[in-house]
Amino acid sequence: MQIILIGFIIDIPISIPLQFLAFIIAYLLTDFINGFIHMVMDNTDNYTSIFGPFIANFHRHHQTPMYTKRPIPIVYFNESGAKIWLVPYLIFVIVLLLGFNMSPMLLHALVYIGILSSVAEISHYLCHTSNSKIVRFLGRYRILLSRQHHELHHQCDNMHYAFLNGVSDSILNWIAKRIYPGYKKTTDLHFAHYSPDDTLKR
Ligand SMILES: [Zn+2]
Ligand SMILES: [Zn+2]
Repeated sequence: MQIILIGFIIDIPISIPLQFLAFIIAYLLTDFINGFIHMVMDNTDNYTSIFGPFIANFHRHHQTPMYTKRPIPIVYFNESGAKIWLVPYLIFVIVLLLGFNMSPMLLHALVYIGILSSVAEISHYLCHTSNSKIVRFLGRYRILLSRQHHELHHQCDNMHYAFLNGVSDSILNWIAKRIYPGYKKTTDLHFAHYSPDDTLKR
């Protein structure tokens, strides 16, 4: 669907400065949107809903944050597939592109958000798996997520949910403090109920 979106958006050209602006806005919004969804998922314990298995599985990232090392395109594909909200989002943008006469810059920004949401998964993956110079460089300049910044999400509680580059974390931390008590006091405690080790013990 991301390839289809690129195919459609190419037919809606905009100037280079507007393209750049759409990309920057999309970059900031992607960091916030993905961080916000991460925050809601970390703090949701409605395991009996239709999304229950996805929510339970998602909570495991605090206890088992280490990824299996794989080629980046495979990680891109697998992690995008696990983002269940991305499918309706991409369909929504395709419908907008086909059926509505909207601002070309807005459409470009929406397409960028659809693609950068997958890049955010790569950013999180690299943050946990790579200590290469280029990844550290990208993290230092806040192009991708830095390990030092993201570490606080795993070490502390109810903070640093963003995972494209982390620039929206100050807003997300502010929201999180006001609406959630924190995952370490709530959903993290449920981990034992669905850990494979626990299943073996029982
Ligand atoms: Zn989390
Ligand atoms: Zn992490």
